[in-house]
Amino acid sequence: MLQAFGVVKHYGETVALHSVTLAVLAGESLAVMGPSGCGKSTLLQILSGITRPDSGDVLYSGPAGGQNLGALDDDARAALRARDFGFVFQQGLLLSELTAAENVAVPLMLTGTSSRDAVARAGQLLAQVGLGGLDARRLGQLSGGQAQRVAIARAIASDARVVFADEPTGALDSRTATEVLELLLVHTAGQQRALVIVTHDESVAARCGRIIRMSDGRVVSDVQVAS
Ligand code: ADP
Ligand code: MG
Repeated sequence: MLQAFGVVKHYGETVALHSVTLAVLAGESLAVMGPSGCGKSTLLQILSGITRPDSGDVLYSGPAGGQNLGALDDDARAALRARDFGFVFQQGLLLSELTAAENVAVPLMLTGTSSRDAVARAGQLLAQVGLGGLDARRLGQLSGGQAQRVAIARAIASDARVVFADEPTGALDSRTATEVLELLLVHTAGQQRALVIVTHDESVAARCGRIIRMSDGRVVSDVQVAS
């Protein structure tokens, strides 16, 4: 679904990614591990078209055929992200002044669903991720685990083919972390979907199908997890 070829990214003097070549296959759940500063978040941002690499290519194969993310302008990448990708990050991206239902409804409204239908659908999705009855709660008034579930409900709402999660369980207790991970795995199971999840937690990584480890901007290990 995604292929990075020789991706390089610098921030000033810092080389965040050296020359990363990596394929994410349809149906895969891929854990990205490695010490702080090794380039995990940068890799996620480049694979998802948030950031452009300095050199190298990222190819995405979606329903509209193959696309080179580096060749798309900012608007086209934003449209592609809204249509095909979902994001579950530790902070940001959700709008703290909006309610849980409104946060989930946003991607639906962006693709033309009426606000009334979108909010109704959001209520169903919130119930599905275990947040029934919290539709009207502002994001700022939810716990970390609840906010992560809202982000997952939003990814499901937009029917994201690839979900990118950056340490989604980092701030959660282990039981909530397990539940959040299971929701992510369930949503991304299936042939035309994939999950790319940055985590420091070996037990989270072990639930994924494949683990890559990074060091100093390079992928240094890439193993399939025995299921
Ligand atoms: P990780 O997610 O593995 O902790 P990052 O991808 O966030 O690592 O960062 C990789 C390197 O790039 C680090 O040295 C970090 O300081 C640097 N870096 C990341 N984002 C930026 C940025 N926006 N501006 C400057 N330096 C950055
Ligand atoms: Mg990071």
